[in-house]
Amino acid sequence: MRNYDAAVIGGGISGLLAAIEVAKAGKKVILLEKSSNVGGRGISVRKNGALLNLGGHAIYRGGAAYAALQRFGVELEGGIPSTSGSIIWKNELIPLPSDPLKLLTSKLFSFSGKMELGRLLMRLGKINAAELADVSLREWAEQEIVDPMVRHLFYTLCRTSTYSRDLDYQTAATVLHQVHLSIKSGVLYLDGGWQSIVDQLQKIATNCGVTIQMGASVSAIKHSGGAVQGVHLGSGELLEVERVISTLSPSDNFRLVPGAEQTILRHWKEDSRPITAACLDLALKRLPVVGRDFVMGIDQPIFFSNHSRAAKLSDNGTIIVHMIKYNAVGEHDPKADEQLLTDMMNLLHPGWQQEVTAKQFLPSITVVHDYPHKSRRDHKPGPAVPEIRGLYVAGDWASHGEMLLDAVAASAGRAASMLIQEAEETRDVINV
Ligand SMILES: Cc1cc2nc3c(=O)[nH]c(=O)nc-3n(C[C@H](O)[C@H](O)[C@H](O)COP(=O)(O)OP(=O)(O)OC[C@H]3O[C@@H](n4cnc5c(N)ncnc54)[C@H](O)[C@@H]3O)c2cc1C
Repeated sequence: MRNYDAAVIGGGISGLLAAIEVAKAGKKVILLEKSSNVGGRGISVRKNGALLNLGGHAIYRGGAAYAALQRFGVELEGGIPSTSGSIIWKNELIPLPSDPLKLLTSKLFSFSGKMELGRLLMRLGKINAAELADVSLREWAEQEIVDPMVRHLFYTLCRTSTYSRDLDYQTAATVLHQVHLSIKSGVLYLDGGWQSIVDQLQKIATNCGVTIQMGASVSAIKHSGGAVQGVHLGSGELLEVERVISTLSPSDNFRLVPGAEQTILRHWKEDSRPITAACLDLALKRLPVVGRDFVMGIDQPIFFSNHSRAAKLSDNGTIIVHMIKYNAVGEHDPKADEQLLTDMMNLLHPGWQQEVTAKQFLPSITVVHDYPHKSRRDHKPGPAVPEIRGLYVAGDWASHGEMLLDAVAASAGRAASMLIQEAEETRDVINV
């Protein structure tokens, strides 16, 4: 194999972003992806003329991912979905108070609850996150929100923005920031699904000179004397390289690095709290109840959104809707979850079964491998693995306060910058 300055493991959005950044700094980069396509959890599946993301995906317009993708020239076309919709409370659909006027007439809240909700929404962007330190979301909400119904709605907004219902572990600062991002700048549903991001990143990577090797499953990261020596591939081949960015999960990194129990990789694995979800994704000839596009469960952890109201996702006019059941950490009951999502669809759109042209059920997909949470340690994983020179990590779990794709983009940027800087410093030392 030709000599490379760096290898990036994993061809998801983390790996693509990291590889582009390193290649743009003039380094020779190889991207190793075990499957036959890049994109990882960011792909969209084409079925019967419809494009289905792996569960509902939205990009936060005020976040790090949006900024990084724009900086690389990725065109993000699509629409900002309206948040006018309903909630489900005690199995009944109730209009969602999406603006102050509707809030005043809503039957959901008492008069004092309405006042409290209004004040809460106004305050969100002004809270000083630094002062919240390690306060959990529940601790913050129980201290700050008096009205139980307002607290229910607040937790629902938090869940929708973060995919997590880990109230006792989520750090209030990061969740409040994410909710504020979604309210302030909104999210974007992308034309062509998230596949449009993946396709453009793949093209940019190739144009920057990144070698993309598919079907290359990394079986171990070789290191000796405290420094990376290369990566072993499943084929038995050894790729000699001094710098590696791994975008795999904390448990995969632990498995791939010999002696990982003596490194910080062990803590990253043991501390991680993966968020999973059950997703029901449908393409429909028409939506039985026109205008019923956005629904959040309040007393059940479920969510429905018609993505076609904001983005072009099919060639033939079919409507793409995504439903999610948010799992608690470790929760896994695919049969019950599919039933719950089917029941939601029956409540929202009676007769929907006759309209289905494509369907995808993902029983328990990992949304993120970890997220900022209360922990025994300072929980800011990466970018470097301090015990092994030349090894860096990125991915949705390697967050320094960001969430979801914003953590992906921010961590890929951190890993790439540190790798570039250390490569330059080594070169300077050799030149001296
Ligand atoms: C249902 C769902 C909804 C989501 N919604 C949102 C949202 O609305 N907004 C948002 O910002 N984010 C959202 N996300 C999160 C976002 O999709 C992910 O965080 C992001 O796609 C992860 O990218 P990644 O590159 O870190 O990991 P992955 O996409 O998992 O990429 C890892 C890659 O590594 C490859 N690989 C694994 N092992 C090896 C090996 N040994 N050797 C070589 N290659 C290997 C895999 O095949 C894969 O391609 C959602 C995720 C899910 C699942």
